[in-house]
This record gives sequence, structure tokens and C-alpha cells, in this order.
Amino acid sequence: MEEISNFIKTIMEKDLESGKCDSIMTRFPPEPNAYLHIGHARAMITNFELAKSFGGKTNLRFDDTNPAKEDTEFVEAIKKDIEWLGYHPANVFFGSDYFDQTYELAKKLIKKGLAYVCDLSQEDISKYRGDLKTPGINSPYRDRSVEENLELFENMKNGKYADGEKVLRAKIDMASPNINMRDPVLYRILHIKHHRTGNKWCIYPMYDFAHPLQDAIEGITHSLCSLEYDNHRVLYDWVVEKCEMPHVPQQIEFGRLNITNTIMSKRYLRELVQNNKVEGYDDPRMPTLVGLKRRGYTPEAIKNFIKASGLSRVNSTIEGEMLEHFLREDIKLKVNRLMAVKDPLKVVIDNYEDGKIEYVDAENNSENPELGSRKVAFSKKLYIEREDFVLEKPNKHYKRLALGIEVRLYHAYFIKANSVETDENGNITVVHCTYDPLTKSGSGFNERKPNGTIQFVEAQTAREATFNLFEPLIIEDENDERSFLDRINPNSWTVKKGFIENAKQHFEELERFQFIRDGYYAVDKESKDDNLVFNRIVPLKSSIK
Ligand code: ATP
Ligand code: MG
Repeated sequence: MEEISNFIKTIMEKDLESGKCDSIMTRFPPEPNAYLHIGHARAMITNFELAKSFGGKTNLRFDDTNPAKEDTEFVEAIKKDIEWLGYHPANVFFGSDYFDQTYELAKKLIKKGLAYVCDLSQEDISKYRGDLKTPGINSPYRDRSVEENLELFENMKNGKYADGEKVLRAKIDMASPNINMRDPVLYRILHIKHHRTGNKWCIYPMYDFAHPLQDAIEGITHSLCSLEYDNHRVLYDWVVEKCEMPHVPQQIEFGRLNITNTIMSKRYLRELVQNNKVEGYDDPRMPTLVGLKRRGYTPEAIKNFIKASGLSRVNSTIEGEMLEHFLREDIKLKVNRLMAVKDPLKVVIDNYEDGKIEYVDAENNSENPELGSRKVAFSKKLYIEREDFVLEKPNKHYKRLALGIEVRLYHAYFIKANSVETDENGNITVVHCTYDPLTKSGSGFNERKPNGTIQFVEAQTAREATFNLFEPLIIEDENDERSFLDRINPNSWTVKKGFIENAKQHFEELERFQFIRDGYYAVDKESKDDNLVFNRIVPLKSSIK
């Protein structure tokens, strides 16, 4: 796999060289309020890979300071996602592990005259805060004495007040050009049971207060976060300095990852699930890591994609095709190439012996002999892909079967179509062909060139299979003003019923294959050996030569 290289790595190199730090410690801090998506993978992979490249360590820290939306279901899911991508956190911590320390540090700020309890409503706090053009106005509660603040803060903790009745605010500068410095809220009252601390607390620290303290306590050297925290950095540094934390972490921001045609926000993904627009977080159309996994994406493909997408201080939008490319690159030489027919059309070889089945040799992967070979059944009755036959060859570029035209059946013989049977609606139900026994694959026959090569499945041994085909979930259209929930692509999940060759008895969940001339597929979680279900991970770019 490619080495990670970016501007943050350069900063780390310099910091090690100058002695600013003597090892690298990073953390990945998801909020356990949803499943991770591929955007989070950028943060996760960046943190783990950068630390690893310096022999450093990475903590997993659940940022669980907002009990309203968090749940242990998400904690477990996130742990599994990280493991799936092959990372091992040095420690697993929770923001809530530090509630006692955070509370004590808030009191320290009060004692230093740097924090106060404010009775303004949330609405008034925003009003008093001003905006980019107007400086803020001091809260009438700003000059409470240290003693009064300590008492009120303790009362807040002891549950004397209702939600929203009071907050603890930092006393910084209501005229600061950076609005985050205009006496930001440090603690709020929330009478909500926390998924880990239960009812012990009814006050919870805000991200801007808790996060720098958690980083400092854990000895994080480089605290990497996405760009929207850029103008929170001054506050981050203020908190670390004023709380007199012995270890000083540094925050570095990087651009967020966006992917074309892909919704990448937890909130939207949650709405898709809650409105039953998808099967769940692991719906194969979802950009969640569990969705990508179920679809058949490999951890390697995702990691290589993230690394190749680069990292800079601007948000980036990457083409979805690039992720597909890295999947193909990863598994092209690793998986067996089988024959499958998604939309079957019956073929009868009129000059082939009734009842006979022969087995022809087939390499498992024409580009990788190490994967060995198998036997493929051939007989009088076969299935081919319906789109591989037309009555009349339309032009010289058409490289499939037509009446009077000869094609090669991959791994088997040349066949020529002679006539068709149709149903009462005129639909073709059977194509009658003849085969030429001299043209067996591997025989060296070279007297005629067939009009292309198509795949087939022998009818008697064929295994029925369901094929799930995917397109982007949401139709992106700048002129369409409807909510994304009303813009679900009706073709985002198409189901086809067909056959695959009987290559093996048992198909393992997530086992991957190339179905020749079609695409890369993975065995779906719903698949059973007597009811096979395959998800198309990505289509093939090119067909076999
Ligand atoms: P969302 O915006 O999707 O709701 P979030 O940023 O609120 O996600 P967190 O759980 O806070 O989700 O994210 C954990 C880490 O992942 C954070 O460091 C966050 O900056 C980072 N992250 C989330 N989305 C992206 C993205 N699209 N690109 C890069 N990093 C991301
Ligand atoms: Mg967040």
C-alpha cells in the first residue's frame, strides 16, 4: 500500500526534529451518534496511518458529551468499522471518562475569574453575541463573584435547575473578531440519562471545552480535525493554557472529503434510515462503512482511495469512479472469474448429443495462473445473456450472436445461431444453434475468427442466483429543489434473476468474484447456498478480449 504523505506529516516531522515532541500520539474522536461513513474514513485513516508511520500511537476516543443523540449501538458499530479497516487503537477512551476532571477544571477557571454562570436564555445568548460586523454585548451576569459562581455551578451540577436555565460560560472577550471567543458556553444543563454515566450528571461540557482537555489529558501531540474547526483553534489553545494543562496538544485542520453523487452527512444518512428509504445503515447503496462492506468493498480499496484522494487544507470533492477504480485494482488478480447470466435466454445446440454433459477446462483468472483452474459444464442446453443475441447483426462493430453469425462460447466451442422460437407476444424464447466440435477452446483451432466471445451457463447444472445492481442512491440535480428524501433514484437498486455456473457448492458471505464481461460481485449477507444473492460491487470497465 502507498505510504501516506501530506502537509500534516511534514509538520510532524518538523516537530520531532525540533524536539517539540518526542513521539506522535493521535486520536480518532467519533461521536457515537450514527454509523461511520467514508468521510470519517479519511479522518480515521489519516490519524492511524500518520501515527503508524512515525512508530506512534492512536487512541480511539468516543466523543460522548452530548447524551441526547448517543447510543451504545453506535459505539459497538464504530469499533467494528475500525477493526474492519485493520486498525488497532492503543486505547479506547470515552469523553465521559473525563467528566470529573472536566468539572474540576471548570471550577479552576471560575476561581481564576475566567468563567461565570449565566442566566441568559439560549436565544438571548445568541442575540448578545453580535455578529461578524457587530461586537457582542456583555451578559448582565458576567460580573458575578467567584463565590457566587462556584455556588451556582455546584447547584447546576446538583440538579437544582431545569434544562436551559443556566450555563457556564468562559469569560473572554465579547468584542473579539472571532465569535467563538465571545464568552463561549462551557457547560450546559441536560437532564438526560447518559449511555455510560447514567444519571450521575445533569450538566455536560461543550465540545469546545471538553475536546482540548481530553487531548491534553491523553497526551495527544497532534489533534487532527476537519476544516470547520479552524476558527475554534484559538479557543482550543485558550482552554489548554488557562486550565494550565501540563501537556499541550496542537490542533491541525484538514479538508473534508466529499464524493460526487454521495450524501455524506450523518444527519442525512440517519434520515434515510428513519424514513425507510433504505434497508438500514448497511444498505449496499449507503456510503457508510458497513454499507460499503456489505456491497463488497475491501478495506484495501477504501484505504488506497483515501490515500490517493490526498489531504490538504481545502475541502475536496472526489469522483465516485475513483473508489470503483481502487476496488477493481485491489481484487482484479485476487478473485476467480466465473460465468453468470443475469437475464437468461435459452440456447439449444441442435447438433449436440442429448443428455450428455461434458466438462471443459477453464482457468479461474486469465491474468493470474496461481488461482488454478476448474471444470465448466457444457451440454445441449445452455443459457446466454439475452442482450448477447439479436436476430440480425446490426453493424460490423456488433460482437455477439445473431442469426447466421458465429461466436465463441468462452472456455467452450464456437456456436452459430440458426433459428429462434418465440412466444405469443413475439418474444424470443429459444435460440437454436449448431456448434463446431473442432473449435473447442484450447484445441488451437484458428481457421475462422468468431464474431466475439460471450459467456454461457449450462442449463442442467446452473445455479439460480439473484443479482443486485446498484446506481447512486440520490439523483443530483441542481435545479431540483425537492428534499433529498424525494430524490431517491428509482434505479438505485435493481434485482435480476438468472444463473451462475456451478463452480462450487458453498458460497461464503462477502466472497468476491468477477462475473465475466459484467463486473465484480460479492456474496450478500442474505445469500444461502440454495438461494444465492450477489451484490454488484462495481461494473467491469472493459469486457474480455
Ligand atoms: P457529519 O458531518 O457527517 O455529521 P461529524 O463531523 O459530525 O460528521 P464526528 O463523529 O464528529 O462526525 O467525526 C469524527 C471525525 O471524522 C471528526 O474528526 C470529523 O472531523 C471527521 N470527519 C467527518 N466527516 C468527514 C469528512 N467528510 N471528511 C473528513 N473528515 C471527516
Ligand atoms: Mg462532529
